[in-house]
Amino acid sequence: MKRILVTGGAGFVGSHLCERLLNEGNEVICLDNYFTGSKQNIEHLMDHHYFELVRHDIINPYMIEVDEIYNLACPASPVHYQYNPIKTIKTSVMGAINMLGLAKRVGAKILQASTSEVYGDPSVHPQPESYWGNVNPIGLRSCYDEGKRCAETLFMDYHKQNEVDVKIIRIFNTYGPRMHPQDGRVVSNFIMQALKGDDITIFGEGTQTRSFQFVDDLVEGMIRMMSSRDGFVGPVNIGNPVEFTMLELAQHVIALTNSKSKIIHLPLPQDDPMQRQPNIDLAKKELNDWEPNVHLKEGLGKTIAYFDELIKANKA
Ligand code: NAD
Ligand code: UDP
Repeated sequence: MKRILVTGGAGFVGSHLCERLLNEGNEVICLDNYFTGSKQNIEHLMDHHYFELVRHDIINPYMIEVDEIYNLACPASPVHYQYNPIKTIKTSVMGAINMLGLAKRVGAKILQASTSEVYGDPSVHPQPESYWGNVNPIGLRSCYDEGKRCAETLFMDYHKQNEVDVKIIRIFNTYGPRMHPQDGRVVSNFIMQALKGDDITIFGEGTQTRSFQFVDDLVEGMIRMMSSRDGFVGPVNIGNPVEFTMLELAQHVIALTNSKSKIIHLPLPQDDPMQRQPNIDLAKKELNDWEPNVHLKEGLGKTIAYFDELIKANKA
C-alpha cells in the first residue's frame, strides 16, 4: 500500500484521481483549500478507511510522510484563474516550491499537472512536447500560463539539482462529471445552457478548435505516468487528439440534450487560442500504448446526466 498526497483533490480531476487511487488499494490524503473544489465532490469517499481530507493552502508549506504526490492544486478554468491572478500564480509557483521541497525531504515521487496552456496560442499544430510555445507574458491568461511554465521549470531544476523523482504531464482540455457548473469552461457552459433552454454562447465565430478528453482517460494517463520507467520525466502530453470546432461541440450538445436552445455569438476573449490539439506519440511510446478510449458522444452523455441531476437537485 502506498501513501499518496493529492493536492487539489477536492476539485474536478482530483476527485476522480482520489477515487481511482483508493480503489487500487492506496492510502490517499486529499489536500485542498476549496477555492474551486468542494466537499461534495469527495463526499462519497469520506467514509473510506484509507481516505483523509486536509484543508490547506499550498502557498504555505505542508509536512507529511508520503510515497507519492500528485500536484493538482490550481484553478483551471479561465473565469476562476482570472478572478485573482496574483493568487493563481502564487499557487502555481509557491505551491510547486512547497510540494517539491516536501518531495525532496521525504524522498517522494511527484507528478505535476501542467497544461497545454504552456503552448499558448500555438503556431505549430498539433503540438509536440518539443514545441516551446507562443505565450503572451502580460495578458489575461498569463497568470495561469506563465505560472504553469515556471512550475515546469522548478520541477526540472529540482530534478537536475536535487535528484527529485519528478514526472510532468501537460493536460489538454478535459471534461466530465464533477466539473464546476459555473466554471465558464465551454463544455460545462454549453451543457448547462442546453439543459436550461438558455442561449448557447459561442465566443467568436466558433471556428476555433479544441480536443476534448474524458476525465477517465486522463486519470489513466496520470497513473501510468506516475509508474513510468525511472528516468522518464516528461513533459508528456495527455489529451485526446480528436479535434472539434466550438460550433460542432455546440451542435453535439444540442442534439444529445434534445434542447431547443439557440446558438448566439459573443466576442472572443483576449488571447483565446485558435487551435489546440495534442500530439500523443510520446505518451503512446512511454506509457504502455496509452491513448484515450472514450468517444466525445459517450463522455458528453455521462456529463449531461451529471449536470441534469445537479439541476434537478437544485445544486447548480
Ligand atoms: P479544479 O478547479 O476543479 O480543481 C483544482 C483544485 O485545486 C480545486 O479543488 C481547488 O479548490 C484547489 N486549489 C486551488 N488553489 C489551491 C491552493 N492554493 N491550495 C490548495 N488547493 C487549491 O480544476 P481541475 O480541472 O480539476 O484541474 C486540476 C489540475 O489539472 C489543475 O492544476 C489544472 O491546471 C490542471 N489542468 C486541468 C485541465 C482541464 O481541462 N480540466 C487542463 C489542463 C490542466
Ligand atoms: N467558449 C465558448 N463559449 C463559452 C465558453 C468558452 O465559445 O461559453 C470557447 C472559448 O472562447 C475557447 C473554447 O471555447 O475558444 C474553450 O474554452 P475553455 O474556457 O473551455 O478552455 P480553454 O480556452 O482554456 O481551452
